[in-house]
Amino acid sequence: MAAMMLLRTNNIKKIYRMGSGFIRALDGVSLEVEKGEMIAITGASGSGKSTLMNILGCLDKPDSGEYFLAGDNVAVLHKDKLAEIRNRYIGFVFQSFNLLPRMTAIENVELPLQYAGRGDSGRIAMRALDTVGLSDRIHHEPTQLSGGERQRVAIARALVNDPTILLADEPTGNLDSKTGDEIIGLFEELNILGRTIIIVTHEQEIARRCKRVIRMKDGQILMSD
Ligand code: ADP
Ligand code: MG
Repeated sequence: MAAMMLLRTNNIKKIYRMGSGFIRALDGVSLEVEKGEMIAITGASGSGKSTLMNILGCLDKPDSGEYFLAGDNVAVLHKDKLAEIRNRYIGFVFQSFNLLPRMTAIENVELPLQYAGRGDSGRIAMRALDTVGLSDRIHHEPTQLSGGERQRVAIARALVNDPTILLADEPTGNLDSKTGDEIIGLFEELNILGRTIIIVTHEQEIARRCKRVIRMKDGQILMSD
């Protein structure tokens, strides 16, 4: 059976104008991702990894080029339509967790469901927290949780809308190596269950555990191995 193409970018560029100069944050990136892949994106700081992830995650748009996700060229969609696609297809995990303070774990996880207008958010959020092994921490606020637990809450929040693709930008960057290892183990489990995952990482050990590694330099993808 032919593998199913999930997303495809064609020659996407993102250029920032700074003072009198330009920064080619993305300088012609073409990429294809199939359903069920687990991909690591590596490269030096400033090579364009986050810029690419933000575009793949529909948080930002390229200046030129195409980005096909679920049949649409999302590179040309309007902001509100882009947000709709993002909410439906994308789960995003950040290095700094980005949880709302003074809200409990379950309240944080329920937010995307409420934004999507789904009923029964409590039950769905509970199930997501169970998936990440946090059923016994649902009423804790972020400050009452360890770094690893916070990232698990953030992963549960990224999962509640059942996204087609899970994007994580240096998800272990703020964690000690043992905790980071557990978080990567969680991503591996989610991938085995069929979730498509892309992880930006500096760590060779994490990249080694992914089935495919994409290396970036100066806004471009280096020839892969
Ligand atoms: P990475 O995630 O690989 O460290 P980024 O994608 O964050 O790299 O950045 C790529 C390049 O684009 C860097 O040179 C960075 O300074 C620049 N850049 C990123 N975002 C902006 C912005 N909002 N304005 C200007 N320059 C930016
Ligand atoms: Mg970055």
